[in-house]
Amino acid sequence: MQHLHHFYIDGAWTPPHRLNAIEVVDPSTEQPIASLALGAEEDVERAVTAAASAFPRWSGTPLMERKAAVARLAEVYQRRGEEMGAAISREMGAPIDLATTAQVGSGSGHFQTFLDLIDGFEFEEWLEADSHCHRILKEPIGVVALITPWNWPMNQIALKVVPALLTGCTVVLKPSEIAPLSGHLFAEMVAEAGIPAGVFNLVHGDGAGVGSALTAHPRVDMVSFTGSNRAGVAISKTAADTIKRVSLELGGKGANILFDDADEKAVARGLASCFLNSGQGCNAPSRMLVQRGIYEETVAKAAEIARAVQVAPASLPGNHIGPVVSEAQYERIQGLIASGLEQGARLVAGGLGRPEGLETGYFVRPTVLADCTNEMTVAREEIFGPVQVIIPFDSEEEAIAIANDTVFGLTNYVQTADLHRARRVARALRSGMVEINGVGRSWRTPFGGYKQSGSGREGGLWGIEEFLEVKAVSGWD
Ligand code: NAD
Repeated sequence: MQHLHHFYIDGAWTPPHRLNAIEVVDPSTEQPIASLALGAEEDVERAVTAAASAFPRWSGTPLMERKAAVARLAEVYQRRGEEMGAAISREMGAPIDLATTAQVGSGSGHFQTFLDLIDGFEFEEWLEADSHCHRILKEPIGVVALITPWNWPMNQIALKVVPALLTGCTVVLKPSEIAPLSGHLFAEMVAEAGIPAGVFNLVHGDGAGVGSALTAHPRVDMVSFTGSNRAGVAISKTAADTIKRVSLELGGKGANILFDDADEKAVARGLASCFLNSGQGCNAPSRMLVQRGIYEETVAKAAEIARAVQVAPASLPGNHIGPVVSEAQYERIQGLIASGLEQGARLVAGGLGRPEGLETGYFVRPTVLADCTNEMTVAREEIFGPVQVIIPFDSEEEAIAIANDTVFGLTNYVQTADLHRARRVARALRSGMVEINGVGRSWRTPFGGYKQSGSGREGGLWGIEEFLEVKAVSGWD
């Protein structure tokens, strides 16, 4: 059993102000794997003070030196990738192969992309207006609080920490208390890479304690948050008192629109994407909208594919899906499946209860609910489990209307052989991202949502801009 009873503050591992520990549970075994100290306001105070003291020096450090420090961190991250994969797999239940490849790899992708992009980034520009050349300076915003969830922990940590450090911000990271092992290991890597004291700080804790203390702190200039809408609303309200910049990456309810001329792999692709990481992805295409001409064959194919999906403990190698993260999530998903059945969905694969032979662990049966309407709870709420909802449609207009009829607007998907139609539909969809015919995002494309899926953009150049203030200096010439 690991003891995570220290926080990384001002370049040193520091005990909490007072010990208040919870258990971290392996979702495959339901056994405790770590004891985690939850921080308090005093710990946040120490971390924010350290970050604020380090800010003038770090922001004044030449970019090439900051870049060299982040590149050293990237090297350590790369070297200890297997260890990181194992930590992620144990804490949140991603199968070990997925954890060491896609989960750890997403972090590597962000390191590499931001390190590449920062070279050509224009921190200073000229603007000619009213017979003068005005100097536009982009400067780091200051101390940033980074609050992250458990589902793709290193994706979200790297997506925030790397551009924050490169731009000259100093950081206090609060990883999810449900999956804190990866964030803790990341802080060890920061120490190993020799990032100067105070530039990166880590305080463990929950939302009500450390999360809200960071959000309220007057010396925190920005909160970058990824997580649930509930917490996003709470953070926005608390941050309003000190007019902080708030970047929110929240939930999604992606539609995957399959037109009659969708390619033959579209159904398998959709299911794989919906079930990836046991369905625990904000951009999971959880609503499959299927045109009437291919409706019944698609439902049959989806059912067959879902029945063939293997479910197994996270420690086993292979291409199966693991458990969901916690008992609370398991119960919530069961409740949603039950509501779908009560509201008239047709169960064609999976269903309530655990898969055969997996009585221990938070394992959910890969489930397909057909004949759904967009009014059903399963079509409106984010499920965050391996559950595919299928809804029929007749026309392009109807598909767009159904896809847009949600409070979310993160990622939608279009499958059709007609590229003109695909582009037309992509323009009409109210979401921050659209993927056509299985072409996935790049680490360089902006990531973020319309509507209640959030505000702000991460990734690529947009993810660098997030951490910058803009200053206009007139009279420079
Ligand atoms: P969560 O909101 O419960 O927790 C996320 C983080 O916020 C945790 O670190 C938690 O401790 C903290 N937190 C909770 N309440 C807080 C508060 N009042 N103030 C400050 N911090 C608080 O979310 P979760 O269950 O860990 O993650 C799942 C959610 O994250 C899903 O809704 C999912 O869609 C969303 N998500 C979004 C994206 C995206 O980029 N849009 C990516 C991944 C996950």
